[in-house]
Amino acid sequence: MDRKSVSCHKCVYFYVTWDKNFPYGCRAFGFKSRLLPSVEVKKASGKECLQFKKKEER
Ligand code: SF4
Repeated sequence: MDRKSVSCHKCVYFYVTWDKNFPYGCRAFGFKSRLLPSVEVKKASGKECLQFKKKEER
């Protein structure tokens, strides 16, 4: 998979929390974050997110 294709905005697990301190969430990893979850995953693990699952395009 193309690394650059990991984008939370295109991922089924991504959601917006409406929490102003932690506006983004990832259901796959079960956390909320201030930056995009994939950025946090990369910081924590040193790897691109492996849970990415592309949303159906509408
Ligand atoms: S699974 Fe990965 S790509 Fe999807 S929302 Fe979570 S961090 Fe982002």
